[in-house]
Amino acid sequence: MPVERKILLNPGPATTTDTVKYAQIVPDICPREKEFVGLMRGIRDDLVRIVHGDTEEYTSVLFCGSGTIAMDICLNSLLPSGKKILIVNNGAYSARAAEICEYYHLPYLEARFPKDALPDLEEIARVLKENPDIELVYSTHNETGTGILNPIREIGDLAHKHNAISVVDTTSTYAMRPIHIKEDNIDFCMASAQKGLMAMTGISYVVGNRRILEESKDCPKRSYYCNLYMQYEYFEKHGEMHFTPPVQTVYALKQALKEYFEEGEERKWARHQRVSEAIHRGLEALGFQEVIRREWQSGLVVTVKYPEDAEWDFNEIHDYCYEKGFTIYPGKIDGAQTFRLCALGAIDEGDIVRFFQVFGDGLRKMGVKIPAAGSEVADEEG
Ligand SMILES: *Cc1c(COP(=O)(O)O)cnc(C)c1O
Repeated sequence: MPVERKILLNPGPATTTDTVKYAQIVPDICPREKEFVGLMRGIRDDLVRIVHGDTEEYTSVLFCGSGTIAMDICLNSLLPSGKKILIVNNGAYSARAAEICEYYHLPYLEARFPKDALPDLEEIARVLKENPDIELVYSTHNETGTGILNPIREIGDLAHKHNAISVVDTTSTYAMRPIHIKEDNIDFCMASAQKGLMAMTGISYVVGNRRILEESKDCPKRSYYCNLYMQYEYFEKHGEMHFTPPVQTVYALKQALKEYFEEGEERKWARHQRVSEAIHRGLEALGFQEVIRREWQSGLVVTVKYPEDAEWDFNEIHDYCYEKGFTIYPGKIDGAQTFRLCALGAIDEGDIVRFFQVFGDGLRKMGVKIPAAGSEVADEEG
């Protein structure tokens, strides 16, 4: 029986297939049973394969929680005492990482850049050179707040040249844009089942370098539930999560991984690009303007300026679209009037074409002029 299909254009959770939804309906099982442990082993290897990691050199560790748990875990678990974190901050998600450091009282520095621009690599190099005690460089691949794609390979290279490890939040690119963990100079990356893998919220994972992870045994232990080494060690010894896993969510993830490999990395990325192109075309046809220069965009999140029109009301158009099965999402740039349309999930070009018919109808009903009048996005101070 098909489940009513909703098109989610928010930055996750994503539209899922019915086969993934129904994979959660399984007989009750205790996750300590051999059958379940076998399932977990396969998932751990698959998660490493997605970023083309060798499973001897790289490993994955799963946690029960939304994507932020993986950010929290990487930041609190991988810093030796007496060392510092450098956060490359050009958006809302990197700002969240800095906030996590605050909560743990972790020593950190920020290299801050405007939210609508790429980070300056020379500035990052300068901070690294002046602070030899930086041990961990943290960056965000696709800044989901704006859709900017950060140069993680170059940032990782700088980190390595200064004897630091590179930790990258790939939550909104993993299993969408191809990532090569080694060539991209990533020591640890992370994601969450409800984004690129188009599964259910409730599982997040860190994929990273096994040797560095094992060395992190000696890092100060700053959290009990969210310690990377503790969870890794338990997985290695017992093949399972230390504490109760979200059983049904794991079955959905297993099915989503099967569908990921069936679709294939290249075809899946091509599909997301088709969706993204359809979003650009639809916006252009209505005269809406984008905030981020096209060549800096990840191809997965489009940030759109509100039109300069007294009749425009984001909540009203949101509700109109929602009624018709399409979910759009507010922006995340302070002081700027924006909303976002995202290209993740089990959707294709045709869904976007249908969306713009609905969106256009909604605008006409509201009395918004088409083509829409441009608006200036308020300047961000760096
Ligand atoms: C979605 C996302 C997260 C995690 O957010 P949750 O709401 O905790 O799932 C983290 N980083 C980035 C870049 C994201 O897009």
